[in-house]
Amino acid sequence: MHHMTLAEIARGLADKKFSSEELTQALLARIAQLDPQLNSFISLTEELALSQAKAADARRANGESGALLGAPIAHKDLFCTQGIRTSCGSKMLDNFKAPYDATVVAKLAAAGAVTLGKTNMDEFAMGSANESSYYGAVKNPWNLEHVPGGSSGGSAAAVAARLLPAATATDTGGSIRQPAAFTNLTGLKPTYGRVSRWGMIAYASSLDQGGPLARTAEDCAILLQGMAGFDPNDSTSIDEPVPDYSASLNGSLQGLRIGVPKEYFSAGLDPRIAELIQNSVKELEKLGAVIKEISLPNMQHAIPAYYVIAPAEASSNLSRFDGVRFGYRCENPDNLMDLYKRSRGEGFGAEVQRRIMVGAYALSAGYYDAYYLKAQKIRRLVKNDFMAAFNEVDIILGPTTPNPAWKLGAKSSDPVAEYLEDVYTITANLAGLPGLSMPAGFVDGLPVGVQLLAPYFQEGRLLNVAHQYQLNTDWHTRTPTGF
Ligand code: GLN
Repeated sequence: MHHMTLAEIARGLADKKFSSEELTQALLARIAQLDPQLNSFISLTEELALSQAKAADARRANGESGALLGAPIAHKDLFCTQGIRTSCGSKMLDNFKAPYDATVVAKLAAAGAVTLGKTNMDEFAMGSANESSYYGAVKNPWNLEHVPGGSSGGSAAAVAARLLPAATATDTGGSIRQPAAFTNLTGLKPTYGRVSRWGMIAYASSLDQGGPLARTAEDCAILLQGMAGFDPNDSTSIDEPVPDYSASLNGSLQGLRIGVPKEYFSAGLDPRIAELIQNSVKELEKLGAVIKEISLPNMQHAIPAYYVIAPAEASSNLSRFDGVRFGYRCENPDNLMDLYKRSRGEGFGAEVQRRIMVGAYALSAGYYDAYYLKAQKIRRLVKNDFMAAFNEVDIILGPTTPNPAWKLGAKSSDPVAEYLEDVYTITANLAGLPGLSMPAGFVDGLPVGVQLLAPYFQEGRLLNVAHQYQLNTDWHTRTPTGF
């Protein structure tokens, strides 16, 4: 049962081959058996899952249908879930039970999805390896000595290990696409404003965006359909109709103009990954696409700009965790200042503290112009590069990451080395563009992802290209040994 995709589950449920309750029970048993090796869940929600599954079965018995009705999923543990711990991977929120559901959670529940649990993540979504979680590192099912990517590493490891078919995730600088690449999944970061951020604990508000992680583009279309849409509770949500993503999967790629930026193939890229990316280009050419070399001249400035802007916004967003209103509070404070200092010093991990300090520094009166303002200007240049490129091409293609998943601990003592691994993903967040990563082969037994970027609100085009690619390749069907 655990090998089924969301699309196969929907057909099986419609044909009464099994019930959602049976499937939910089978997957919960599989999680109990296999997750201790991976650490991909922070909380399991068995009771909720079984009651949602029974309710979905009853709705189907009453003649209702729907691709997500009775489908088991999990939420990254920064989506608020009413009455259920929502930890954000932090000691700061270890005791926090959200008083309401995030819009994404509520929408998926209304569509009949079954929540199996909350997945592990880097603390406050800061990281590219899922090693900064208060609940411990997540392991990559393709090789348990390697990281699964971050910050949505729990969602990725769980889906890759076939503990469930799909999960929600978020992407501030690559956290959907990079773990997708590291674990042989398909992951989509939507256009900024496409998916509501209400009830999604903020890291960097102008960059954060929720999206689906699944094994296929077809399943990403199904999950995105349930997540996307205007939300008056989110002031940056965009009131744009949501197209039928599944309906556009089968469009022909004849004449599709694919741009390959020359800057992507610089010295930092593992040559074996470069070769796999060229293979995926050839595959798409066979399907009718036309390839064109393009240039994104400001790409080299994107990492420094991102690692000023994201910490700046984080330092502001995380100021609410003060030991007073909710979250962790230190024992026996001497006075108010001691309460603030120790609650934040004990509640936040090292990486989060580093980002708060960098962000507060960049925003401080004497340095604002030199760092924050300059970073914002670079952000505009990065966006302008993309706008110019999309005058010439329909899709931009390249590697998702410069290297395959590294060994656990290999970069944890050198934060900048880890930041540099985000080179291909963060530009889409700076520009607010949609991006998708899909499986493109293996290096040393570890998965490699190819990234596709599209103009605003062209998620359907990304899913269409990825689906056509997946109809003609089998990388996405490979399963990690032991799972
Ligand atoms: N690795 C990036 C960071 O640490 C991106 C994380 C994310 O997308 N949430 O900021």
